[in-house]
Amino acid sequence: MKTAVYPGSFDPVTMGHYDIIKRSAAIFDRLVIGVLNNSEKKSPLFSLEERVNMLKEATKDIPNVTVESFEGLLVDFVKANDSKVIIRGLRALADFDIELQMAQSNRMVAPDIDTLFLSTSLEYSCLSSSVVKEYASYGVSVKEFVPENVLPKLEEKLNVKSNLKP
Ligand code: ADP
Repeated sequence: MKTAVYPGSFDPVTMGHYDIIKRSAAIFDRLVIGVLNNSEKKSPLFSLEERVNMLKEATKDIPNVTVESFEGLLVDFVKANDSKVIIRGLRALADFDIELQMAQSNRMVAPDIDTLFLSTSLEYSCLSSSVVKEYASYGVSVKEFVPENVLPKLEEKLNVKSNLKP
């Protein structure tokens, strides 16, 4: 049974993430989405529980996907899930530096764990959770960019009705 772990902040999950989830779930027997319990450095818009629940709802129709939260070292979370593979998405060159650095440093502490990169689907190549939050906060519709269940949560959190504007 081949298990992969897809870690991230998912604040909130976007269609870019969802696309990577669907594609990696089709490659592996089991995909564990690891939602990072962010350190004090980064204060997320959604709580850990909200981020986990939104992901669970968005992926409920993909049977081999589970969603869990984690803190501490990613490689420990990967090992705890009997996995040797970390999935990351690459959008543009800007992602490359930091992603390569993370992959290399993870290999330094856990040489038997590899990072596998999936390139973004073209339509989501400029999409990030930050872009979604910024647009939504100005009332711009983000309904193409997030799973259906996330839209009302965003509107509620930001106190806007994003579907009012095209
Ligand atoms: P992190 O804080 O770990 O970067 P994110 O939730 O922003 O967490 O992203 C998790 C992973 O998903 C990262 O590998 C990121 O590159 C990837 N990702 C984010 N947005 C997209 C997208 N639009 N297309 C493909 N991959 C994406």
